[in-house]
Amino acid sequence: MSDISVDIAIIGGGLVGASLAVALAPLIERYRLKVAVIEASELGARGAQPSFDERSSAIAYGSRAHFESLGIWSQLATRAAPIHDIEVSQRGALGRTHLSCQEVGTPSLGYVLPNAFLGQVLHERLSHMPIDWHCPARVETITPAVSGHQLVLSTGVVLHAGLTVLADGGRSGLKASLGIETDRHDYEQHALIANIETAHEHHGWAFERFTHEGAMALLPLMQRRMALIWTRPPEKIDATMALSDDAFLQMLQGRMGARLGRFQRVGTRHVYPLSMSRAREQSRPHLAVLGNAAHAIHPVAGQGFNLALRGVMDLSAAIEAALDAGRAPGEALTMADFEQRRQRDRDLIMQASDTLVRLFGLELPGISGARGAALGLFNLATPLKRALIRRAMGLGRH
Ligand SMILES: Cc1cc2nc3c(=O)[nH]c(=O)nc-3n(C[C@H](O)[C@H](O)[C@H](O)COP(=O)(O)OP(=O)(O)OC[C@H]3O[C@@H](n4cnc5c(N)ncnc54)[C@H](O)[C@@H]3O)c2cc1C
Repeated sequence: MSDISVDIAIIGGGLVGASLAVALAPLIERYRLKVAVIEASELGARGAQPSFDERSSAIAYGSRAHFESLGIWSQLATRAAPIHDIEVSQRGALGRTHLSCQEVGTPSLGYVLPNAFLGQVLHERLSHMPIDWHCPARVETITPAVSGHQLVLSTGVVLHAGLTVLADGGRSGLKASLGIETDRHDYEQHALIANIETAHEHHGWAFERFTHEGAMALLPLMQRRMALIWTRPPEKIDATMALSDDAFLQMLQGRMGARLGRFQRVGTRHVYPLSMSRAREQSRPHLAVLGNAAHAIHPVAGQGFNLALRGVMDLSAAIEAALDAGRAPGEALTMADFEQRRQRDRDLIMQASDTLVRLFGLELPGISGARGAALGLFNLATPLKRALIRRAMGLGRH
C-alpha cells in the first residue's frame, strides 16, 4: 500500500477525463503540477471502456479550435469527416430546413470522429506526458480531507489530491457518496447506433429526421459510410435489433428515403438508454464534476461531448488563472471562477436540447403542421438561423 500526494486527481480517463489531462499539459510543465489520472478499464479492451466504443461523435466546429489548442487536431483531422450541410425534416409532414457552412462562412459546420480513434489519439498523447497514470485501477472510495480528498484505489494505492475531478461518467456511485444528488429525467427512449454503407456519396451532408417516435440522424463518415443514431421507444428498439441486416436496412431506407441510394451494409448495432441528468452541485472547494458525471443530454443535436469539452477548457482556464495568481488549483475561489465561466453555456445547451426532444415528441392536433411551418420559417429567418447555427457549432458563446 502506498500513499501519493498530487495537486490534481482526475477520476476517469474517458473522453472527458483524458481531454482534461491533455489540456493541463502546459500547466504541468510550467508549474510542475502533479496530476494523476485513474481509469478503471484496461486501454484497448474492446467494449470495456464506455467512452471509446463503436460510436462516432459529431464534433462542433468550435471544438476543433479546442483540439487545435490541445495540439492534437492535425492527428484527429486524418479521420475527421467534415459536415458541410445539414438537412432537418420531419417524417410525414412538409417543412424542412437546410443549414450550410457557406451561410456561416466556415469551411464546415463540424466533423464526425470515431470515438475509438479520438481515444487512441488522446491516450497516445497522455503516454508522453509526465502524469501519474493508474490503469486499470478503480477509485473505490473518496473522502473529504484537510485541503482536498483522499482516494482509495482498487490497487491499494491511496491518493491525496488538492483538487479532484470527477469525470467517471456518473455511474460509479462516487458522486452520491459525497452527498451530491443528481436530477434525472428518463426519456423512455433508447438510441440504436450503427454504421451504414450507402450506394451514393454523401458529399458531407448530414440528415436529421424527426418522427413521432423519436429522432433519426445520419452523419457523414469517411468514404461512403454514415453513422446512424436512431432513437425509439425501448420495445420498438428491441424488435428493430432482432431484425436481420437486410430487413433492418429495408426498414431504415423506408424511413430515410432514397437520396443516398440503396443502403448497402450495416455494421454491428448497439443500444443506449437515454436520459437527461444533471448533478445538483457541479463543483465545490477541492472538487469539480465534468462530462456525463455533471450532465448528460439527449444525443439529438450531438452536443453532449462538445458541451463537456467546453467544461474541460473552462476548468483548465480557471486552474491556470489560480496558479498565475499564486493560488492552489482546488481553492474555493478557483472553483467559483470555474462555475461562473460554465453556468450560462451549460444551462442554455441543456435547456435547448431538452426543448427540441419535447417539441418534436409532442403529438397534439395540428402540431406537425406548426413544426413544419416553424422549420420553413427558420429557413427564411436568416439572422436567427445564423445565430443558432453558430451557437450549435460552439462559436460565439457569449
Ligand atoms: C448514443 C449517443 C450518441 C452520442 N453522440 C454524441 C455526439 O455526436 N456528439 C457529442 O458531442 N456527444 C455525443 N454523445 C455524448 C458523449 O458520448 C458523452 O458526452 C461522452 O461520452 C461523455 O464522456 P465521459 O468521459 O464524461 O464519460 P464516460 O464515457 O462514461 O467515461 C467515464 C470513464 O470513467 C471510468 N470510470 C468510471 N468509474 C470509475 C472509477 N470509480 N474509477 C476510475 N475510473 C472510472 C470509465 O471506465 C470510463 O472510461 C452521445 C451519447 C450517446 C449515448
